[in-house]
Amino acid sequence: MMMAVDGNAGRDVGPVDVLVVGAGPAGAATAVACRRLGLSVAMVHRPAGGPGGGPGSQTVEHVPSSVRQPLVDLGLWDAFTAADNTPCAAAYTAWGSDDLGWGPHPPAEQGWLVDRLRFARWIRQAALNAGATLHTATSHPLAEGLGFARPRRRPEGRFTVDATGRRGRLAERFGASRRAADELLAFTATLHQGEHQLEAAPVVLVEAVRTGWWHTAPASGGRLVATFVTDPAVARLSERPAEQVWAGALAASNHTAARLHHHRRDRRPLDLTPTGIAALDRAAGHRWLAVGDAALALDPLGGAGVHQALQGGLAAARTIAASLLAGDPTAGARYDAEVQARFGYHLEARRRIYEGERRWPAATFWRHRTSGSLAPVA
Ligand SMILES: Cc1cc2nc3c(=O)[nH]c(=O)nc-3n(C[C@H](O)[C@H](O)[C@H](O)COP(=O)(O)OP(=O)(O)OC[C@H]3O[C@@H](n4cnc5c(N)ncnc54)[C@H](O)[C@@H]3O)c2cc1C
Repeated sequence: MMMAVDGNAGRDVGPVDVLVVGAGPAGAATAVACRRLGLSVAMVHRPAGGPGGGPGSQTVEHVPSSVRQPLVDLGLWDAFTAADNTPCAAAYTAWGSDDLGWGPHPPAEQGWLVDRLRFARWIRQAALNAGATLHTATSHPLAEGLGFARPRRRPEGRFTVDATGRRGRLAERFGASRRAADELLAFTATLHQGEHQLEAAPVVLVEAVRTGWWHTAPASGGRLVATFVTDPAVARLSERPAEQVWAGALAASNHTAARLHHHRRDRRPLDLTPTGIAALDRAAGHRWLAVGDAALALDPLGGAGVHQALQGGLAAARTIAASLLAGDPTAGARYDAEVQARFGYHLEARRRIYEGERRWPAATFWRHRTSGSLAPVA
């Protein structure tokens, strides 16, 4: 059944300029930017949890201060700073040695810690406020008439945007293929701080261990969100249940184990998130383009995904306007070239970061990610 939600209940949707499939940060940013250019927009949303539902619901994302510019350009900066996001005091890394150093961003540019589901809801609401509509998909869009049981009311777009995230497959229906560079697996859990162990400052910690790396960050309400990222082969080879993989990696850590020591896990099972590093071989075509993780899924180690989703939304809207309003036949090709170039820079940057860790050259995780054996784009 087609359902309009979040304030659009019952509103009928005729043909629109832009149909955005997937209403995560990239889809919602595209919708806001399109509305600012005067285009009508309908978003099709499938809530997180099902296949292709985005990173685990427990994830806290570290968003660098560079996110300010795209938020200003979207007209959302003031609302973002007024929202309940936690400024990040520092990001420490134990990478290449057991000593703690600064993360990839200097201390003055630490940015924010955002609760991933709350941020997605917030920017989706901003798109609604800007005049976009939101509809719930009941099955894979375009596979079954967009999944709407009442075809006469389903939204139709002159231009389609694939914003279905890392595991989305919509662009493949337009003839594009996904080029995978790497595959990671993330295990995430939420912990609660002990009454007397409340951490003084919201600090991110990244620590390399033999089987992968840890990311821990505080969240609202005295919570601490811990993610262990490994190679699916490592998890498979060990043939242990997820909880044991997690416990083994924690025991092998130094700073992360110390940080989690006085925290207790909540009752939720671990979120297991397949985290492919991939890009489409073609991110735009006739009357369609892909944006955010659907176009270009980055390694979460760099903490650039949210910035890229917002920046990508702005670029997507400019491309759509050039194509639909100005009739520019080259806009899609320029957009695609930008996506391909960004993927190339990203692969080179992450190769350098992984090569910075040389303590376990024979371990599967590091062997797969260091020079010469990093999976080529295929
Ligand atoms: C473990 C992990 C940790 C991360 N940490 C960080 C971090 O610290 N900082 C950072 O900046 N980034 C981080 N990222 C990356 C960041 O989460 C993503 O880059 C960002 O969410 C991309 O937004 P998106 O809108 O492209 O995709 P998503 O957030 O995945 O949104 C896609 C949306 O499309 C919906 N959808 C899927 N299929 C369909 C369909 N068929 N029909 C309708 N809707 C559909 C999904 O339900 C989802 O709501 C992390 C990622 C992972 C996996």
